[in-house]
Amino acid sequence: MTLSLHDTLQGRKIAFEPLTEGEVTMYLCGPTVYNFAHIGNARPAVVFDTLARFLRRSYKLTFARNITDVDDKINKASVDSGKPIDEITARFIKAYNDDMGALGVQLPDIEPRATQHIEEMVEMITTLVDKGFAYEADAHVLFDVSANPDYGKLSKRDLREMIAGARVEVAPYKRSAQDFVLWKPSTAELPGWDSPWGRGRPGWHIECSAMAEKHLGKTIDIHAGGQDLVFPHHENELAQSTCAHDGAPFARYWLHNGFLSIDSTKMSKSLGNVLLVHDLVKSVPGEVIRLALLGAHYRQPLDWSDAAIDGARSMLDRLYGAIRGVELSAQQRASAFVPATVIDALEDDLNTPKALKEMFDLARTLNKSAADDERQRLAAEIQSAGDLLGILQMDPEKWFAGHGEDGLAADEIDALLKRREAARASRDFAAADSIRDQLAEAGITIEDGPAGARWRRNQ
Ligand code: AMP
Ligand code: ZN
Repeated sequence: MTLSLHDTLQGRKIAFEPLTEGEVTMYLCGPTVYNFAHIGNARPAVVFDTLARFLRRSYKLTFARNITDVDDKINKASVDSGKPIDEITARFIKAYNDDMGALGVQLPDIEPRATQHIEEMVEMITTLVDKGFAYEADAHVLFDVSANPDYGKLSKRDLREMIAGARVEVAPYKRSAQDFVLWKPSTAELPGWDSPWGRGRPGWHIECSAMAEKHLGKTIDIHAGGQDLVFPHHENELAQSTCAHDGAPFARYWLHNGFLSIDSTKMSKSLGNVLLVHDLVKSVPGEVIRLALLGAHYRQPLDWSDAAIDGARSMLDRLYGAIRGVELSAQQRASAFVPATVIDALEDDLNTPKALKEMFDLARTLNKSAADDERQRLAAEIQSAGDLLGILQMDPEKWFAGHGEDGLAADEIDALLKRREAARASRDFAAADSIRDQLAEAGITIEDGPAGARWRRNQ
């Protein structure tokens, strides 16, 4: 495998080589569980699920995606709703996995929760204090950024400029505005754990450093997340882990997905344009959402719109339309390989739009081919590529019957088609045409083929 990936730290695409031959470790910063995931949150989940699927073809992958279940936003949600924290986090962990599951996102190998790793966090903070990279002040423990000359390298920020540009109101217990919290005190009402610095709770960044070490080791191969995490979250994780581990590299490759906007506007609560996956999956098939997310290269910005959904739907129509009706034996299905052109595209920094274009080329060739063996080979290849990308997982007939919830139900359409066939058999072409018109009006196209009439919903 000659995979190349764009590494944020080096700022360029580089050949991928795991630390241990044949094995890969990957850590993705997961959700903070106090509400439903929005479509922007789904982007890293789908993109890095696709990378995980691709890596599993060639490596023994250990993929960890954490759950942040201790956070001030969760505490606030508990106060606002009057519900216990555990109830809130349990509800949204399940909702996250259900919603992402609807988009074909497979569960990671490990799903570590912050609240189950407090001991590891306390241990890492103690190490940082002992080594002179962190200090205790006013029941807080802070990371001392001035003790780490590499601070700012990932996000390409200059620490001196950051200090010069900092606003004056700095928390009184901080030596410098850029110092960040590793541990903070909890009042009796807030979740808290005993520690050498009193009862308190961890800062967000230390969670990932501690959980990555526990489950994947001191140096991990791939660390991933959305672009907004580069600073401060990943910069701080990098500082904590390298300083705690005497300079051992933390992540060999840093991968960040671009941001998703809605109708060219930033998604935000104040604008009221936050689109929850939980709501979207009620009207749009999961594969359509997944394909729309994979239709742009993961590092590029992606604008979400009705047109993007329609585009993804018609792409799936093209692919399902090509493989529809091509009978494949279990043997043909099992022995098919993912075409080299698709692999080449994915090896090039996970170029999913290019991989999809290659699949459309195969579909076009299939549609033109009259030779059964060639049609079967191409259908099997398209299907294998679909398996890899997490699409084309439905029976094509069900696909064409299923979407478009308004209008006629599938059995009503079948019944009308039967009546049309009967009308044609008795040479009552006026009746047959009127049924065709009725279906056309309902957005259904009939295709007459050698095996009889089939139908599909128009876009
Ligand atoms: P959060 O729960 O806010 O930490 O976000 C979870 C993941 O979603 C992180 O990897 C974020 O970088 C990512 N994310 C949040 N908003 C967007 C967006 N609009 N577009 C792409 N990724 C996003
Ligand atoms: Zn993280």
